[in-house]
Amino acid sequence: MLPGIHIITANALALNLTKNPIGGLLLGIVFHHLGDILPHKDLNVFQNYNEISIKQLPKNLKLFLASELSIGLLFSFIYFILFFKKSFLLFLFISLGAVLPDLITIFFKKAFEKYGFGRRYINFHKKFHFKLKDKSFKTILLLQIYELFFIILSLIFFHLSNNFV
Ligand SMILES: [Zn+2]
Repeated sequence: MLPGIHIITANALALNLTKNPIGGLLLGIVFHHLGDILPHKDLNVFQNYNEISIKQLPKNLKLFLASELSIGLLFSFIYFILFFKKSFLLFLFISLGAVLPDLITIFFKKAFEKYGFGRRYINFHKKFHFKLKDKSFKTILLLQIYELFFIILSLIFFHLSNNFV
């Protein structure tokens, strides 16, 4: 799943569950893995990537990734911070948690793989990436609908939990 969707859904799900930034960071990580488990698109929709590596990405995909991330961040900032006046610090920590598993896998894979636990974690995380083999238009459209559905469901959760907290 791409980073912008991770940020929107993690904030929608976590912002009303804690006031503690560290709690927000941990929830962000948990909701990242939840998002990864659900059917989703990865960058290998466009080309054959089996590893999460920024270096091997062509320029246009890097640009796409940066735009998707910016849209996700901007939408979340306007929606949760400007409209719903949620804590900016909490938002920052949840957003960091929401992309942290991918950041670790991209930038700190070697360091993590030195340790048994780190290796198990990287393998656990990678299990849910790049699963898409059928890249037909129909499949990609279906995944797009799934992802939109996940965003809408998490926003509904945000509104329901907003009334209770
Ligand atoms: Zn991931």
